[in-house]
Amino acid sequence: MRIVISSGHGLHVRGASGYIDEVDEARRVVDRVAEVLNGAGVTTIVFHDNTSTSQSENLDTIVNFHNRQTRDLDVSVHFNSNGSDAHGTEVLWTSDAGHTLAVDVSDVISIAGHFANRGAKERNDLAFLNNTEETAILIETCFVGNKGDVDNYKVHFNEICNAIAESISGETITGIPPTQPDWPDRPDRPSWRPPENIPVSERPELSEGDEGPHVVDLQTMLPGFGASNIDGDFGPYTDEEVRNYQQSRGLDVDGIVGQQTWTALYENKPPILPPPPPPHALSMRDQEAIIAIANASAISNYHWDDRGVAPTGYTQGMALAFAQTYKKWKAGHPAAIKMAKARKDSDKDALNIYRDEFNILGMENEEDGVDTLRHLYALMLGHGMRESSGRHCEGRDMSADNVQSDTAEAGLFQTSYNAHASSDPEFDDLMEEYADPRNEATCYYNAFAEDVECHDGEWDCYGSGAGYEFQKLCKDCPPIAVETAALTLRNLANHYGPIIRRETELKADADNLFLAVQKYIDEHEPEVA
Ligand SMILES: [Zn+2]
Repeated sequence: MRIVISSGHGLHVRGASGYIDEVDEARRVVDRVAEVLNGAGVTTIVFHDNTSTSQSENLDTIVNFHNRQTRDLDVSVHFNSNGSDAHGTEVLWTSDAGHTLAVDVSDVISIAGHFANRGAKERNDLAFLNNTEETAILIETCFVGNKGDVDNYKVHFNEICNAIAESISGETITGIPPTQPDWPDRPDRPSWRPPENIPVSERPELSEGDEGPHVVDLQTMLPGFGASNIDGDFGPYTDEEVRNYQQSRGLDVDGIVGQQTWTALYENKPPILPPPPPPHALSMRDQEAIIAIANASAISNYHWDDRGVAPTGYTQGMALAFAQTYKKWKAGHPAAIKMAKARKDSDKDALNIYRDEFNILGMENEEDGVDTLRHLYALMLGHGMRESSGRHCEGRDMSADNVQSDTAEAGLFQTSYNAHASSDPEFDDLMEEYADPRNEATCYYNAFAEDVECHDGEWDCYGSGAGYEFQKLCKDCPPIAVETAALTLRNLANHYGPIIRRETELKADADNLFLAVQKYIDEHEPEVA
């Protein structure tokens, strides 16, 4: 039997990163598995892509290498990533032979690595599985962003590699000694060891101006503190490095090394991962396709009670906003995850208030997931018509005296900023996200504005500070109005009169529109593995 095994992505086309780096670790696993198999007499050819500079070139290079070899089996090694909660091992397949093998490989990796077994998963959209000519599997060893997975991976590295080698070859592997430690020293800190002779409790509090052997130990333990800078003198450079360390580990940033900072150093506490970035804006191709779906939908011609047919901008804008939120949900974005939670037994959750209406249409919301998210958006389509007639520039209700920063309503859903506390911290995090000029392409302003007439006075915002900013952002960048309304409907639905009075219309055709958008996104996703 001959096997070709390659690492996912490439030297210049990086994969996921978290507590560990996908490309670096996939290479270590591949090398070790091949070492074990070749030692056991199973010819195993290794490939790492060191040349490609784009994803398509990378996929072609890997596939072409496999197809040029004489072999019985094609294996690709990856690591998974999806926020910090997702964990476990899974093995992807597309052919029946791949399926059988994937079940076995996932089983044994999960046992060897003490990982949750997510099992074999069919994927028909991956170049490696589709284009390699022999039986193929793609191993997602574990999740780089999950602390438990990474800890287990480090401790059980050699067992995991042995398990992969045995399961893909069908051979029993014995007597192949590990040639590398389960987990090597950190390259940036070769001399680091957890201190054995001095317990944390005996460490003094240190800050700028101190010197001596404890400062030497501190400098030795600080990640990234260059060995040549270790001098036992707590000067400005040490102060800066301590503050960087405290910041990156979520500690109080004061430059004072007390018990908290010593403990984190002793535990080799990993850095806090930044939240996943918002997904890139929809491509122009995707925007055009989704707009076409919206304008062809039955709901786009629907005559809403007391409001009439929605402006073109509203239906198409909502379709784009849903596509974006759905992509965020898939990427583990915290706000989207909250929106997609199962119905709560609460008079503040619109999915509970409208439970009967949903049930009549067969739209159940009893489970976390995209169905619940989509049903929420279906309700929102009617809700935005009720609140603003689908007009993104709608200002405050001029008949009411809500002119404070926090109570002045604005935008499609007439949300006011005082709703933010009910969705802490996601509401404010969304504001920060959409206020960031780098995310301007996620506003889809022109799409929302089509066929909507705005008047001068409507643009006025009231008060100052965050409440003022929120009103302005809702009108300038409508998806913030959509996503904050989605959160508010789940957490503070009584904020909205039309919900309490049951004036918001829930239509099956609204759900049909978003379902078509969902399918489009699923079918046109950029390749990720
Ligand atoms: Zn990957």
